[in-house]
Amino acid sequence: IRYAEGKGWYDARVEARGPIPMDPATAVLHYAQEIFEGLKAYQAVDGGITMFRPDANAARFADSAQRMAMAPLPEQVFLDSLHHLIDIDRAWIPSGEGGSLYLRPFMFGSEVFLGVRPANEYLYVVIASPVESYFSSGVKPLTVWASPTYTRAAPGGTGAAKCGGNYASSLIAKAQAAENDCDDVIFLDAVERRYVDEMSGMNIFFVYDDGTLATPTLGTILPGITRESVLTLAREAGHQVVERQVGFDEWRADAASGRLREVFACGTAAVITPIGTVRHPGGEFAIAGGEPGSVTMGLRQTLVDIQRGRTEDTHGWVHRIA
Ligand code: PMP
Repeated sequence: IRYAEGKGWYDARVEARGPIPMDPATAVLHYAQEIFEGLKAYQAVDGGITMFRPDANAARFADSAQRMAMAPLPEQVFLDSLHHLIDIDRAWIPSGEGGSLYLRPFMFGSEVFLGVRPANEYLYVVIASPVESYFSSGVKPLTVWASPTYTRAAPGGTGAAKCGGNYASSLIAKAQAAENDCDDVIFLDAVERRYVDEMSGMNIFFVYDDGTLATPTLGTILPGITRESVLTLAREAGHQVVERQVGFDEWRADAASGRLREVFACGTAAVITPIGTVRHPGGEFAIAGGEPGSVTMGLRQTLVDIQRGRTEDTHGWVHRIA
């Protein structure tokens, strides 16, 4: 779907995937006005097709567009575009556990001009592709690298927006994590370099021995839809959950004393996955011997069961495709 200032959204179409021809002076290639979302359509156990909280993705997309000074795409247009593609691709959605149709809506400044100002033309596109389970060999606790060098977002920056530039700046930190034999990176806050922010594509939760949970406060982190769902489910399961700044030194000390029982990461791709080991330039430490914990695995099961239609959805999160 195209947008032009004064004309609005027009020219919606579905085509076979192929190249998008671009002028070398297309705005996005120079000043990076680009935002995206990632979500999945599932085959439910009853044979229907569902999406999990697509309205939350639509709202976050609108917030990202606002932050990046881009044209607002009406939330209903976002939702209709997904419905339309799912309907066309319904025969291709894998039915196996973990399989889904991955949907990647994105939008970029398509106006041809060189200049630092918001573009007056945009292209909104959705890619749909069948994917198998994120975990080919079951859930395995992650080893994460606490980056001493790089941050993901500063106050006033674009951390809360899902824009491509944030991921471009994370790539080098992810590469460092891989060099240190880690699965992902832990970003610390940009101001004091003391507090845990999030990972390259997931939010983070801490589970303590008294049953309470903590997760970093919103602001510079991406407001994850899984994070928000976990907040709700954990509270319903009787846990006290606080959103607060969690210090890296505090994390290490609580892991050593045993007060910290579990740590997990959460996001659309992996749902909920345990963190077993934390590596940093000064050494490493494990959480509860590096094994998956019962709170982590319990919340994971609850969420996956809601997504797959095995458990009643009491929150109106599961969106059925007719
Ligand atoms: N943080 C970052 C940086 C991410 O890219 C993602 C994935 N969208 C998340 C957190 C988790 O968000 P969600 O639960 O909405 O997938």
